Amino acid sequence: MSGEISRQAFVRRALGGLAGAALLGSCRSVTPKAVSTPAPPDWNALGSQLDGQLTMPSSAGYAAAKGVFNSRFAGSTPTAIITAASVTDVQKAVAFAATNHIGISARSGGHSYIGASALDATLVIDLRRLPGGIDLDAGRNLVTVPPATDLDSVQTQLAASGRSIPSGSCPTVGVAGLTLGGGLGSDARRCGLTCDALVSASLVLPTGAVVTASANDHDDLFWALRGGGGGNFGVVTSLTFRTFPATDRDVVTMTFPMESAAAVIVSWLSWLSIADRDIWGMVNITVGDGPGRCTVILATPPGTGSSVAGEMLAAAGLSASSTRTRTLNRIDFVHYFEGGDAARVPRAFVAGSDIVGEMTSAAADSIVAAVSAWPQSAGSATAVVESLSGAVDDIDPAGSAFPWRRQAAAVQWYTEGPSDAATSWLTAAHYTLGSASVGGYINYPETGDPLARYLGPNLQRFITIRQKYDPTGLIRSGIGAA
Ligand SMILES: Cc1cc2nc3c(=O)[nH]c(=O)nc-3n(C[C@H](O)[C@H](O)[C@H](O)COP(=O)(O)OP(=O)(O)OC[C@H]3O[C@@H](n4cnc5c(N)ncnc54)[C@H](O)[C@@H]3O)c2cc1C
Repeated sequence: MSGEISRQAFVRRALGGLAGAALLGSCRSVTPKAVSTPAPPDWNALGSQLDGQLTMPSSAGYAAAKGVFNSRFAGSTPTAIITAASVTDVQKAVAFAATNHIGISARSGGHSYIGASALDATLVIDLRRLPGGIDLDAGRNLVTVPPATDLDSVQTQLAASGRSIPSGSCPTVGVAGLTLGGGLGSDARRCGLTCDALVSASLVLPTGAVVTASANDHDDLFWALRGGGGGNFGVVTSLTFRTFPATDRDVVTMTFPMESAAAVIVSWLSWLSIADRDIWGMVNITVGDGPGRCTVILATPPGTGSSVAGEMLAAAGLSASSTRTRTLNRIDFVHYFEGGDAARVPRAFVAGSDIVGEMTSAAADSIVAAVSAWPQSAGSATAVVESLSGAVDDIDPAGSAFPWRRQAAAVQWYTEGPSDAATSWLTAAHYTLGSASVGGYINYPETGDPLARYLGPNLQRFITIRQKYDPTGLIRSGIGAA
């Protein structure tokens, strides 16, 4: 492909020379300069230098090697895939891509909503075989992990040592992608986002240099890596997190009639935003496949679930159709939100997000109206509302690239229904929310959206840092103009 571009460039340059000669007429003779065509990428040479593996489109394993979690992107056509087995492999791959002007898709867990870890015409650097393992420094309560470690493995190993990091909900999501985009989950109100626990990250820059970004070293990069989204600046090869003690938690599940869904969202969120930060919650509204369901899930200190739920209902003036409370140890708590083995299976889905600045009644009405617009015969669709209060709010919005620390809630739209209906539903949802939405969450990105929608007021600083570390745009994120 780059050979093709070079040939076109050569032809353009040659035609330009001829046109110039014609304009000069016969006044003087012109000797055309020799123009050399860059050599095509030498894939064989690269492959022979790797500890890991090179997979080309002609290789038998190409389809499997480029496979990502969202099978809507199964037809993507990366130029090649390098399965890196060492940081040196990553450096070689980055140098090769830079020399040959091929963009890079870094691949950790492969759970990008928009298939951004196997973009067309890029060199995929797959990090799943990087060595290292999950390394807990019990003395300093730090854990260091390779980027593609799946979240469930991190949580399982940490829980065995009585520690944890702020979790997301998917067992197989890669810790790198989750962290680089923020990391929103059931620990957010007491421990913040996953990226808030990041202490340092090592990465291979487009120059091939390996650097470690932390609060004391490359602090601009460290700022940008915490919530600016994956696929920027370089390829992250390891991440170190602060851990917190793993504790039991109560989980309370309450269901409400669909008619009261908007009231539930407003009153639950206003109660939660000033509740003790040991309490976390989300509202899940699902339509299709039967009557609509509105569910509130709370996580509370062990033994307090029933009383906290009672407080919430009293404060909100609500009564639940059903309530279930159980006490879970740390790993069962993580597994509860992961959703079991079925959650590990790749599938086709359409999803996106809105950030709600203030949860007014009108904003809640619009969330319910938007999710309810899903065509009932097309399967099910869900809106998940999560609070951005508590520890998320402890960091200044300009203190890391993740900008949404003073807003009320993140809303995720998700469906595995037919693609056309799903895309129309999602577009209509944004329209229905209108000015109640101030942006989107970069870990739930949508194809074609501008980066500004995800980085809000932090966009300019992010772009300046990206320009400094990756001026040619070698590392691709699939978001915005890349
Ligand atoms: C089922 C499911 C559940 C989810 N639940 C949550 C949740 O609870 N909370 C939440 O916050 N998010 C959640 N997400 C979103 C998830 O955090 C993002 O999709 C995340 O980017 C996935 O990371 P990954 O490493 O698995 O994906 P990948 O597709 O490998 O990577 C995602 C992006 O990061 C880039 N990238 C990956 N690795 C690196 C690296 N080492 N260096 C530089 N760039 C890199 C990729 O190029 C791509 O642009 C969920 C996603 C799914 C599919």
